[in-house]
Amino acid sequence: MKHVFPTYTRFPIDLVQGKGTIVTDGAGKKYLDFTSGIAVCNLGHCPENVTVAVQKQLADIWHTSNLYESALQDSVAELLVGEDDKLVFFCNSGTEANEAALKLARKYTKKDKIITFEKSFHGRTFGSMSATGQAKIHQGFGGLVPGFTYIPYNDIEAFRGAIDENTAAVMLEVIQGEGGVIPANAAWLLEIQHHCKKVGALLIIDEVQTGIGRTGTLYSYQHIGLDPDIFTLAKGLGNGLPVGAMVGKSELSSAFGPGSHGSTFGGNKVVLAAAKEVLTTVKQTGFLEEVKAKSEYFRDLLEAKCANLASVTSIRGEGFLIGIEVACSADSVVSNLREHGLLILTAGSNVLRILPPLTVSYDEINQAVSLLATALENELIGSEKR
Ligand SMILES: *Cc1c(COP(=O)(O)O)cnc(C)c1O
Repeated sequence: MKHVFPTYTRFPIDLVQGKGTIVTDGAGKKYLDFTSGIAVCNLGHCPENVTVAVQKQLADIWHTSNLYESALQDSVAELLVGEDDKLVFFCNSGTEANEAALKLARKYTKKDKIITFEKSFHGRTFGSMSATGQAKIHQGFGGLVPGFTYIPYNDIEAFRGAIDENTAAVMLEVIQGEGGVIPANAAWLLEIQHHCKKVGALLIIDEVQTGIGRTGTLYSYQHIGLDPDIFTLAKGLGNGLPVGAMVGKSELSSAFGPGSHGSTFGGNKVVLAAAKEVLTTVKQTGFLEEVKAKSEYFRDLLEAKCANLASVTSIRGEGFLIGIEVACSADSVVSNLREHGLLILTAGSNVLRILPPLTVSYDEINQAVSLLATALENELIGSEKR
């Protein structure tokens, strides 16, 4: 690519069409997409009902600015919060949702200190980048936003030592996605929540990757029954249209009054038409039950066919957010699989990250696991030859 900044290492294919789990490149070659565009196209590519809803909105009106009322924003917000006494701020991406959360937490608590975790990922803008506990992401960008403290994940003692009366918020992912598909320990999470309440710090959960059904519940914090003050969404919310949201308890609204924060495109009608249809689908009776059943089937099959291979160190994750830690090069497995028609991702140098659409079929799961097992077996033979 000649005319675009080289900020990404790109795979050498251009996907020009997609339907469900199948994508097609410019040369007409088909692939099983077990990346969902990084946990974005949770309902697969071009789902019929979302396409129809967006096309209808495109014919009605695209954009009105947040200087006017929006019944559509209210109905998407209602789908997001359900029965809870919570409010929503709409934005356009994950990093923006986290910016909103960090700003709200500081303004509401009138405190500065924010605790986040090593290997976390919260986005690339200055605030979210400063929240991200990875030196390689900070490198070269000069002074960060002050006030962030990074501590080891899943470490109760480190947390007890870090939280105090000056803490505005603790921000975390329930499963660290970019950091290597690392699930949080439930007891550790409950301990964090307990200490937050005790010192008046807000618990912020970054659900950008784990939300919208990805782990088998609408939000991943529901597995542990947490009660976050704020959580953030983006990736899967619009199934590929750019929309993010920050959801917070209603009592925080005093700090987010008129003029305090905003976004020109936030809550845009076209992307919210998509979000409304996505949420309606995911919240339909039986949808998440089926995700749970299919993802358990997937996990069992992976355990049966891959766990014992010499190239596999461990299999972890929840629902359709799966990490396979490998003793070989993860990049080499990904390239090999791409040649054989299966797209997956990595998280770091030694973890395969697998994120099929929630709508994936049992047959597609069977095909993918068989390709994976073969690739992982060949990887071992390759390294033995060397
Ligand atoms: C992807 C991601 C983000 C950043 O989202 P963008 O839409 O790329 O800004 C933030 N947090 C988590 C957990 C993510 O996975």
